[in-house]
Amino acid sequence: MALDDYKKKRDFTKSPEPAGDHDKALRARKGKPLYFCVQKHLASHLHYDFRLEHNGVLLSWAVPKGPSLDPSVKRLAMHVEDHPIEYGSFEGVIPEGYGAGIVMLWDKGIWTPQVEDIDKALAKGDLKFTLDGFKLKGSWVLVRTRGYGGSRGDGSSKSWLLIKHRDDWAGALDITEFAPRSVKSDFDFAEILADDQPDVWSSHKPAAGGEAGDMLRDIIQQAAALKAARATTRKPGARAKSPAKKKATTDPKSPAKPKAASRAKTAAPRAARKPAATTGARRRS
Ligand code: MN
Repeated sequence: MALDDYKKKRDFTKSPEPAGDHDKALRARKGKPLYFCVQKHLASHLHYDFRLEHNGVLLSWAVPKGPSLDPSVKRLAMHVEDHPIEYGSFEGVIPEGYGAGIVMLWDKGIWTPQVEDIDKALAKGDLKFTLDGFKLKGSWVLVRTRGYGGSRGDGSSKSWLLIKHRDDWAGALDITEFAPRSVKSDFDFAEILADDQPDVWSSHKPAAGGEAGDMLRDIIQQAAALKAARATTRKPGARAKSPAKKKATTDPKSPAKPKAASRAKTAAPRAARKPAATTGARRRS
């Protein structure tokens, strides 16, 4: 079955990742433009999971350094197991097990093969396509190499290169640095974690040492601080509601007041939430 490898590696009672329904996805996606996404994944190592929809699944490559818009830069892309279509909108925290860490939906959009037969191109190890995402656009190619990283059952290598073709969308801009945040939530890793449980890895961190370990430690601290800041900034907003409400109901002489009070009521929590999110954004950039 299409998603056997994917399912074998995961325990869906412990992971928030979607189990996926291949038949349902095939039916639902029929005749629709092909979806692509890139998920920034901080696990034992930081990498970018590049996914292209094909035959009701997401073909997937793990790109350690992420995509580059510079045509002279070839980025290693390790072919990994197919993922369910439903994975394409996933963003969140994987508390334990395979891929434990934080997943951010870094880019998404539509892809168009520049070959007649996708399966043939994959078998050949040369897939040309265009992307129309928020961050990645224009013409690209995935080329299989003889390289390292073991081989698949059919003897072909798992290692590919993701390369930008020269066009209007190519350039020297470091897109991973320039646009580091989620296209789904506009969150960074710390904000994604703050929305979940910053203390989920107190005992068993997905990455303890090295660059990823340092990054994770930093992110956990930021997330905990964000969560604490949100909790305290929300309280005054919540308290401000009740005096306004009381005033409005005990003052029948001014009919305009209840309206203003209810407007203030909805505005207060939003205003209280915003500073926490934007401070976080500024601190990160
Ligand atoms: Mn991954």
